[in-house]
Amino acid sequence: MRSLIDILELTTAEIDELIAVAEDIIATPEKYAEACKGKILGTLFFEPSTRTRLSFTSAMMSLGGNVLGFSEATSSSASKGESVADTVRMVSAYSDIIAMRHPKEGAPYVAAKAATVPIINAGDGGHFHPTQTLTDLLTIKRKKGSLHNLTVGLCGDLKFGRTVHSLIAAMSRYTGIKFVLIAPEELKLPGYVKYEFLGDGKLEYVETTDMEAAMPELDILYMTRIQQERFASHDEYLRLKDSYILTLDKLANAKPDLCIMHPLPRVNEISVKVDDDPRACYFEQAKNGRYIRMALILKLLAEKDQPDTVRPGEPTTEITCSNPRCITSTEQELPQMFRCVDEEHNIHRCAYCDQKAYPKKK
Ligand SMILES: [Zn+2]
Repeated sequence: MRSLIDILELTTAEIDELIAVAEDIIATPEKYAEACKGKILGTLFFEPSTRTRLSFTSAMMSLGGNVLGFSEATSSSASKGESVADTVRMVSAYSDIIAMRHPKEGAPYVAAKAATVPIINAGDGGHFHPTQTLTDLLTIKRKKGSLHNLTVGLCGDLKFGRTVHSLIAAMSRYTGIKFVLIAPEELKLPGYVKYEFLGDGKLEYVETTDMEAAMPELDILYMTRIQQERFASHDEYLRLKDSYILTLDKLANAKPDLCIMHPLPRVNEISVKVDDDPRACYFEQAKNGRYIRMALILKLLAEKDQPDTVRPGEPTTEITCSNPRCITSTEQELPQMFRCVDEEHNIHRCAYCDQKAYPKKK
C-alpha cells in the first residue's frame, strides 16, 4: 500500500510529476472534476487544524469525491482509548484514502502499517507535514518557473519550525540552491539539520541575525512565526521580536520579483500592509495547497497497489525510544522499531518518530 508520511519518500521525479499535475489541474480543472467520483477521503484529525482539514476536504470535493471524518480527538473513539491502529482499520473499511493529523510523532507510521488504504500524513506533532512542503514547492515553481538556482531566505524560528526543516530537505535535492538562514541566536537551525542536508559543502548557506542586510540577494523569503514561549524571558522576546517582523520598510532593498511566503496562520510576523504588495505570495500559497493535495490524492489512489515506500524499521527489545512525543510513549503495546542509519557510528533512529539512539554494541 502506497502512503506518504515524509516528503523524502518521494523521489525528485515524483515531486516534479506532482507539481506538473497540480499545474495541469490549475489550467484545466474541468478535466479533473469527476476524477474521484464515488471515492471517499477519510479525514482523521486527532488534533484540530481547520486550515489543513479544509484544504484536504476542498481537494477531494474538487475531484468529485466525498469526505468523512472527525476534526478532534474528543469527538472520536480515540477519546475512549482506542489505538491509532484500530481507528485506522475501522476507517479503512469506510474510505478509499485517509488524511491523518495526530499530535504524537510517528502516529501516521502506525496508521500506514495498519491501514488497507493509502495514508497521507497531514502533520504529526513537530515531526513531518509533507503536504505543506509540497504546497511550498508548487508555489516556488509557479512563481519562479523552476526549483533550481534560487537564493532562499528562511526567517524566524528555524529551530523548532518543522516546515522549514522539510523545505530544506526537499530543496537540497535541486541544483544551485543557496539558503540564507535568518534567526535569533536562540532559534538558529539545529546542527543535525545542517549536518544532514547542508553540511560538508553539500549546499551553500549563510547564517545571519539581520533580515534587512540579507534582503537584497533573496529570491524567496520564507517567514515563520516566532513563539514567545521559545525565549528565555519575556524581555528577551520583546527585544528581538521586531527584528523578525516583515514590514514594507524592510522590503525597500528587496528584489522586485521577490516571493514572500508563510505557511499561515500568521500572527504578527508579517505586517498586514505587506499584503497588498505584489511580492506577497502567502495567500496564493494557501490556494496552491488545494491543487497539490488533489494531485497527491490522484497519485496515491492510482498507485495504491504498489509497494509501501514508508521507511522500514526492525523490531527490537534492545532499544527504547526516548522521545516523550513519540507515539510509542502513549501506545505502549507497539513494538519498539529502529533502523540503523550509520553503522560506523552505531546511530539508530526510531522508525516512528526518527529519534536518535545509540544502542550498546554487543
Ligand atoms: Zn520514537
